[in-house]
Amino acid sequence: MEFSALKERALAYAKYQEVNRFVAFGSVASAILTKQGNVYVGISIDTACSMGFCAEHSAIAEMLKHQEVEIAKLIAVTESGEVVPPCGRCREFITQVSPENYKTQVMVNSDTVLTMKELLPFDWKPTVDKTW
Ligand SMILES: [Zn+2]
Repeated sequence: MEFSALKERALAYAKYQEVNRFVAFGSVASAILTKQGNVYVGISIDTACSMGFCAEHSAIAEMLKHQEVEIAKLIAVTESGEVVPPCGRCREFITQVSPENYKTQVMVNSDTVLTMKELLPFDWKPTVDKTW
């Protein structure tokens, strides 16, 4: 599956909506293509007191519900279609889910794809230890 198709899947859910004065969601949506060929989409949740989470985070939760851990491709977009790279927390989270995710191809802007390894150099986790 091409990144353009993944982007369309994410864009369908990138629709900012306020729930109330404290909570909003959908300012960013993320689509991940797993190694097994499935696509999972997540949305961001923004809250007062920083209790929300990123779109990548909820997409990974969907993936884990289906007993999958390896991500082949990842993209996140805003409602306007701007491609945004994963934040530092998500980079860490993605590589903790599986060391195979250092190979994940990540679209970081409209014309650049990098691996997670390139996005997380000098990682603290022992990359030669595949036991986690
Ligand atoms: Zn994030």
